[in-house]
Order: sequence, then structure tokens, then C-alpha cells
Amino acid sequence: MSDYNMSTKCVQSGYTPGNGEPRQIPIVQSTTFKYATSEDMGKLFDLEASGYFYTRLQNPTNDMVAAKICDMEGGTAAMLTSSGQAANFYAIFNIANCGDHVVACSTIYGGTYNLFHVTMRKMGIAFTFVSPDCTQEELEAAFQPNTKAVFGETIANPALTVLDIEKFAKAAHAHGVPLVIDNTFATPVNCRPFEWGCDIVTHSTTKYMDGHGAGVGGAIVDSGRFDWMAHADKFPGLCTPDDSYHGITYAEKFGQGGAFITKCTAQLMRDFGSIQSPQNAFLLNLGLESLHVRMPRHCENALAVARYLKSHPKISFVTYPGLEGDKYYDLAQKYMPNGTCGVVSFGFKGGRTAAETFMKHLKLAAIETHVADARTCTLHPASATHRQMNDQELVAAGITPDLVRFSCGIEDAADLIADIEQALEQV
Ligand SMILES: *Cc1c(COP(=O)(O)O)cnc(C)c1O
Repeated sequence: MSDYNMSTKCVQSGYTPGNGEPRQIPIVQSTTFKYATSEDMGKLFDLEASGYFYTRLQNPTNDMVAAKICDMEGGTAAMLTSSGQAANFYAIFNIANCGDHVVACSTIYGGTYNLFHVTMRKMGIAFTFVSPDCTQEELEAAFQPNTKAVFGETIANPALTVLDIEKFAKAAHAHGVPLVIDNTFATPVNCRPFEWGCDIVTHSTTKYMDGHGAGVGGAIVDSGRFDWMAHADKFPGLCTPDDSYHGITYAEKFGQGGAFITKCTAQLMRDFGSIQSPQNAFLLNLGLESLHVRMPRHCENALAVARYLKSHPKISFVTYPGLEGDKYYDLAQKYMPNGTCGVVSFGFKGGRTAAETFMKHLKLAAIETHVADARTCTLHPASATHRQMNDQELVAAGITPDLVRFSCGIEDAADLIADIEQALEQV
């Protein structure tokens, strides 16, 4: 980890060119790498030497960008994945096997919920979902002897709940398992979960990190703080010899700081192959170079929009953790004093019809399933992502039929508010 401040890390970490070398990160557009002898290559396959041999496992461009994200989060090792979905799947599957159990926060991204509740359940991994507002006792009651991890999102997409990181970390550690946090919405610019006891961080880099809607991607970062060997019985994959890698014991050979990411690369990336393309890693890095400049503007615009909506007579509720009086305001102030994210959600006194009319008349804000982009985008879940649900099912899922999700970009706040104002006049 470098000693630089966040802004400097965003711009410069991960790559330091030597004399006469390219100033920008080189895109190593090569599937494979050449060696002088078979013995040289054999050492790589045995994980005896570090180096590149095939881009499905590792690529220099990807590693430079992963190293930047690692530095930003304050971790010891990191890897890129093809998507946020792959990052969350790998992060959990790296430590939970068939027959194991995971405690997850109930307000998580719909794609992650589906991954856990449907797909990973088919793989024999059980999940217990707990409310982010659960008491210490309720959280305790969710653990089982075969629990291997606790999972949550710093700021949940789209529920906008804020995770009490210290509460969840304390419970996880009391049961000898790591806390895994998806830090997509906050980004390390606004929150560094490792500083509050989190052990593994994941990202959908598709969102603010890329920031320009250019490339789907993900990342996993290890804090290096979880002592796998102290709980060796729970984590045989890290603490006993891997037969598919000539009997290497990851936690011994790569230590506390390197075991998790090395195993994840050597086994899961090898076998599932959810790599990020070096081209996309290059684009992601361009996004990272301005993340520290963009995040404050996203938050500033979202707060202005949230305050405007809060006082509007046609609006029934506004949810934004950065807004005074929001249910999660105090937690947000604790964990993200400099700002939360650019996403605001709100509802209409006129119900579903009012929401539909409003959406129809927006001019600047574009209707997209995307969030966390430089350009403002918005979605009415009841008529898009959740359209298969009836009104009762929507309410049960925490999404009222009148709810609109509004992801503030980095345009001028006055223009965003004027757009909202003219659309509300039609309601
Ligand atoms: C979008 C998102 C994901 C999934 O990421 P993809 O890059 O779309 O695969 C996971 N977690 C959160 C919080 C997200 O917003």
C-alpha cells in the first residue's frame, strides 16, 4: 500500500513507467507469453515463480489496474473479473463449498440476491438473509456451525440502506469468518470498509469506477487481515494442500496477505475464466483517474436533487442516505462523512400512474437500467426490471409501484432539477 492520499492513488497507483516507457498503461493484447525453456514455464505452473503465461489467469494490464484498486482500498492483493457478478461469485465461492452456509444482508443488489438465493443454492451453498437493521441477537441467530462468510453492501443498490460495517464485522469475527463487502456504490473514495473491520471487498467496476458506461467489469480486494490459519478447520481450501496445484497450501505459501487472491486466481479464474479484457481494464483505469473528482460532484448533485424533491408537494417520499432526516443518515455520516453516492429514490403521491407520467416527460435524464454513470439515468423498476411482479409482490420486495430510481450524473445540478421540475408539472 502506498502512503499517498486518495486523489494521488486514483491518478498514479498501479503503474510507474521506467525510463522511456509509455506514460499510459500499456494494453497487453496478448493471450500468451513466451519463455526460453520448458523449465522456466514449469515453475510458473507450479506457482514457484511469478510471471505471466496465459491471459485467462493473469495479464499485465489487468494486474496494474487491480494494483491501483488494491491501493485505493488499502488492501494487500486484488484481481479484476469480467463483471461485478463474477467478483461476488468468486469472493464467496473461494471460501464456501457445497454444504456450507453464508449470512447475507437482505438488501443487496437483485443480481447478487439471485446469484446467492437461486444459483449458488443449486451448488449446495445455503444463505440466510438478515435485515441491515437487525439487532446483535438477530444477527447472532443467523450463524450456523458451517457458516463461512458474512456478506453485505456498503450502500445497497437500489434500497440505499447503509451497512453498519462494525456491527457485521464484529459478528463475523466472533464466529471466525470474514466479512465480505460489495463497495460498488460508495467506492473507496467515500468509504474504505477495511478501516472498519471488513476483510474482503468486491466491486462492480461497471458503475462509478468506470463511470462512463464503457465497460462491464468487477474487482476483488483482500485486506490481508483475516487469519485463515487461525480458523484452518473452516477453510480447508486455503489451509490444506491443493491437489490441483501440486499440493500447495495457499495460506502457508502466500501468507495472510496473498492466499485469498492467489487461490481465487489459480483455481476459480483457471476453471471459470471470467476474465476482464485488457482493453476494458485500460478503459476502467481511465475512469479511475478521475474517480476522486467525479464522486463529490455525483454526491453534490444527488443531495441537491434529494432536497428539491423532499419539499415538492407531489412527492410522497425521498430516500437518500446523504439527506438530513434519512433513516440511514447517521450511519452514512459515520462511515461516509464526505458523501455517499449519486443515487436517489423517491415516490409520488399520485402513485404508479404519476411515476409513469413523470418518466415520459424527462428530457435530460435517460431511461436506462444502468446507474452510477457520468450521465444522469433513471428507472421506474415497476415497469422495467420488476415488471413481472404485481403490486403486492413489489411492496414485499421493498419497491413500491410508484418508486423511481434516479442516478445523478455529473452535469449541472440546476439543469437536473429543471428537468425534474418540468416533468413534475406534467404529473
Ligand atoms: C451492478 C452491481 C453488481 C453487478 O455488477 P455487474 O458489473 O453488472 O455484473 C453487483 N453489485 C452491485 C452493488 C451493483 O450495483
